[in-house]
Amino acid sequence: MMVPDQTLDLDEFMQGLIKRNPGEIEFHQAVEEVAANVIPFINKHPKYIKNRILERMTEPDRTIIFRVCWEDDEGNVRTNRGYRIQFNNSIGPYKGGLRFHHSVNLSILKFLGFEQTFKNSLTTLPMGSGKGGADFNPKGKSEREIMRFCQAFMTELSKHIGENVDVPAGDIGVGAREISYMFGQYKRLKNEFTGTLTGKALEFGGSLIRKEATGYGCAYFMEEMLKNQGDSIEGKNCIVSGSGNVAQFCAQKIMHLGGNVLTLSDSSGFIHDPDGLNEEKLDYIIDLKTNRRGRISEFAEKFKCKFHKDKRPWSIKADLAFPCATQNELELPDAKLLIKNGCRAVAEGANMPTTKDAIDAFHKAKIIFSPGKASNAGGVSVSGLEMTQNSIRLSWQREELEERLKTIMHDIHQQCVNYGTEKDHVDYIKGANIAGFVKVAEAMVAYGVI
Ligand code: NDP
Repeated sequence: MMVPDQTLDLDEFMQGLIKRNPGEIEFHQAVEEVAANVIPFINKHPKYIKNRILERMTEPDRTIIFRVCWEDDEGNVRTNRGYRIQFNNSIGPYKGGLRFHHSVNLSILKFLGFEQTFKNSLTTLPMGSGKGGADFNPKGKSEREIMRFCQAFMTELSKHIGENVDVPAGDIGVGAREISYMFGQYKRLKNEFTGTLTGKALEFGGSLIRKEATGYGCAYFMEEMLKNQGDSIEGKNCIVSGSGNVAQFCAQKIMHLGGNVLTLSDSSGFIHDPDGLNEEKLDYIIDLKTNRRGRISEFAEKFKCKFHKDKRPWSIKADLAFPCATQNELELPDAKLLIKNGCRAVAEGANMPTTKDAIDAFHKAKIIFSPGKASNAGGVSVSGLEMTQNSIRLSWQREELEERLKTIMHDIHQQCVNYGTEKDHVDYIKGANIAGFVKVAEAMVAYGVI
């Protein structure tokens, strides 16, 4: 057993974590990235060792796994597995998205829930961390099937959430449509109208700019990082991956800030448009991916540009990169290509899209790099503002919300600078990890052993 005044060792800590959570590779990856920065810091602050804060922070408060039974259009009974990981509520109610994707498993949701602890702490708002979802694949399902699945999922989830307990939102495969079905079911079961989900439609308590918030926030964060170097997005060529919620609005804000978006992608490949996107092309993408749920290759046919089947966009020459699709989509060979082609900065819009060896290559090449927990925190921040609006039963104007979002992204950047400034650069991963850690750790120390 560890004695209180011992120091923590990264390898030993990780061995213990891997033993306790066998096979959960994404979770191990996320914890190791944080622990590598936080352990040297903890070793200088004995109260965190004495209270075993990192050990406690890597163990979710609660993991709920449940069966979701629903009926498809042919009358067949279908079964999926639903999850909610209530990770840490030291600084506010559990808060984090729901993901519906065939790849969903415990490891992926624990990595996302763990990351959320640091992200939500960085937002400056009172939000704890959680994540959930199901291994349900919405692709190819009818509108009614989606509705029945969402209702079945919420029938169980509703027992575990509440406006002061746990407030889920969307993520991959869960947009405004799914949130609406789930909110409707929650309201029916509980006979109450409370802001228990965020990302709702405007008519029933949703917030303006929630759908734009993650992508906008990511572009704002890149602008802050470049400003710190006396530069800006204006005139820069940009690669964006993904074409879902985050990618669409990241691309839009890049355009507003004067950048040129050359690529978008989905799970079937990427499009390269050397002329860059404009509002008309972006409207087409939003309709294609959000309403018609089509493939990105249709964009290439419509606007006569190149579609690269089964490829990712990192081979295209550009100044800035924004990975906005999914985890582990930017690997070492991709990082090498970006570096070779003169890329100067990378801002993660997705959660953990960059592998560790790719991040190491960026650091070595002095590429400015921000982790998702900092640069994609705009989404959960506006969700936090939606919770506030629901509590006070008011809704703020678009301009006010966008101003608040900009301020939050600025403040997150500043926290990264405060904790991550090295001799000749800012280590944004270190800055975000330590700043996110301190707030939650202080609360946990204050509560004693619970
Ligand atoms: P969407 O479901 O709207 O879009 C996801 C996009 O990623 C789609 O273009 C999808 O392609 C693509 N994609 C999914 N899986 C893969 C894969 N294995 N390989 C290549 N492309 C893939 O999700 P969001 O935009 O909401 O989320 C994107 C990322 O951002 C996720 O990591 C999410 O956790 C993170 N995030 C989202 C927030 C939000 O507010 N929505 C907040 C913070 C982080 P296809 O259409 O072919 O499936």
